[in-house]
Amino acid sequence: MATRTQHAPEQSATADAYDAAYDAIIVGAGFAGLYMLHRLRGLGLSARVIEAADGVGGTWYWNRYPGARCDIESLEYQYGFDDDLPREWRWSERYASQPEILRYINHVADRLDLRRDIQFETRVTSARFHEGAARWLIETDNGDRISAAFCIMATGCLSAPRHPGFKGLESFEGDWYHTGYWPHEGVDFTGKRAGIIGTGSSAIQSIPHIARQAAHLTVFQRTPNFSIPAHNGPIDHEAERQMTERYTEVRRRARASAAGVVSRAPSERSAMQVTPEEREAEFEARWQYGGLGMGGAFIDIVISPEANQTAADFVRGKIRSILKDPVTADLLCPKDYPFATKRLCVDTEYFETFNRNNVTLVDVRSAPIEEITPKGLRTADAEYEFDCLVFATGFDAMTGALLGIDVRGRGGQELRDAWSAGPRTYLGLQVAGFPNLFTITGPGSPSVLTNMIVSIEQHVDWIAACIEYLLEHGIKTIEPTVEAQDAWVEHVNQVASLTLFPQANSWYMGANIPGKPRVFMPYIGGLGAYAQKCDEIAANGYEGFVLA
Ligand code: FAD
Ligand code: NAP
Repeated sequence: MATRTQHAPEQSATADAYDAAYDAIIVGAGFAGLYMLHRLRGLGLSARVIEAADGVGGTWYWNRYPGARCDIESLEYQYGFDDDLPREWRWSERYASQPEILRYINHVADRLDLRRDIQFETRVTSARFHEGAARWLIETDNGDRISAAFCIMATGCLSAPRHPGFKGLESFEGDWYHTGYWPHEGVDFTGKRAGIIGTGSSAIQSIPHIARQAAHLTVFQRTPNFSIPAHNGPIDHEAERQMTERYTEVRRRARASAAGVVSRAPSERSAMQVTPEEREAEFEARWQYGGLGMGGAFIDIVISPEANQTAADFVRGKIRSILKDPVTADLLCPKDYPFATKRLCVDTEYFETFNRNNVTLVDVRSAPIEEITPKGLRTADAEYEFDCLVFATGFDAMTGALLGIDVRGRGGQELRDAWSAGPRTYLGLQVAGFPNLFTITGPGSPSVLTNMIVSIEQHVDWIAACIEYLLEHGIKTIEPTVEAQDAWVEHVNQVASLTLFPQANSWYMGANIPGKPRVFMPYIGGLGAYAQKCDEIAANGYEGFVLA
């Protein structure tokens, strides 16, 4: 195996005992891991991707629930690093469905001949930094023992599904599913009495589909969500042709933008400095256009409580206008957190579904779910019977997959300990005390607040350039200083505290996992400003990092 890095494992007896040596190990074969592999190959490095699934795709491999699709428009939710890729692929819908996105990722994997360097059906269980050899020693659930100069975590922000450990689940006599690991063969709800727990994006996409099939669907809602219609439909191929002709430019603009998208730019006007009529017109235009752009209708929506209230009132008005039953409408209206401070949802006929006779909404805020029973579930005030149950209960977001691996840095320090009060990183790219470990879209970077593919490409490009720099300058390790990391964490918190985001019990805050530290994990300063900062740091000889 050709290695371009200088420090072979034979420098250390421990590292020597490992079965294989690479320049880099990449964990995860979603959008991030695949592009990282491609870039490292381009540098002439030996790299291996280790992936728990038996195929590529990450999110789009696992989340096969009915109705799963992107909520960033297909034309922007694709790779942009190679001009030919967007030109070669034709999307069929404005928001591509999960099967189509998975086909696309498989196409890219074939086109770039990536599979030969991916080891599937293998979960990385531990990654330990060996200081003598300056290498990462990686172990898997298949018993592999691999060493690598660089360990790159492409493990995903939303890849550790969770169901909230309800008492009695093992006693349930029907079938149960989690949206985040849906059966490949699909699920036929025809004639079934189905229950679904959760009303986040996954539930909001799947509920209309399940309701159309099932004999009856009961939706257990703890917190209602703001959702904007997608207005999905066939893609405009002329617009697609025009965009893909100048995709490099589109992508350059996306990377310079706040959220990694160009299709519906955020407004620069304040909601409070326009007339009520102008405000209504802007909201209405964005509602009619559809999708996440609603969150950017005015510059102060997530900053000023008054501005936020206007957006919240507008969407609540829409919900009430769709629902036939005012009691159900009221239950579906979010009231106890600011608009867009939990991830906005994008739907197709979600609210309309509650007008169906075979759908019931149950409020489990007032009467929580107490246990799953053999026949269904029991809340504090009633018992329900089902043939099948769907958990749309989300993920241990941003840190779940990373902390699912026993990661140890210098002196055997555990990442779990280093992050016991919440994740601490420099730029969301590296962690002090964990040399040569990179986290693609790690906590402390814009990641989940943006079009993820643009953020992924920005991180992968930065990491690839960084590794190239190290090799060219004969540098063995890179890691942030504690001071630079502390200052970055402080900055991330400070920017978040200027917004209304910390007021919501969101997964951004870790609030969906009992006991998880309550910290706003992504960086909300905007992708454009963030990417510029990353570039400046690199241009200044990797300011804030120790290069040894
Ligand atoms: P992932 O796609 O999550 O891939 C990570 C991979 O790492 C997985 O395959 C996992 O199996 C593997 N892995 C993790 N731990 C280990 C381990 N220890 N050993 C081996 N393998 C491991 N973002 C948007 O910008 N727009 C959208 O429209 C959008 N829609 C989404 C819809 C759903 C249903 C979900 C859940 C997320 C969505 N996201 C969206 C976020 C989405 O996760 C990202 O857009 C993107 O797909 C992430 O790619 P990734 O490669 O970083 O991570
Ligand atoms: P989620 O947004 O975290 O939603 C989980 C839901 O389960 C919430 O409604 C939550 O209620 C509920 N829940 C959790 N524990 C519960 C309990 N004990 N009792 C009752 N209800 C409980 O997860 P998700 O829907 O899978 O989405 C996660 C993220 O993935 C999204 O925010 C988005 O970023 C991405 N995603 C995107 C799309 C898309 O449109 N492209 C689709 C799916 C997912 P509470 O709110 O009260 O905690």
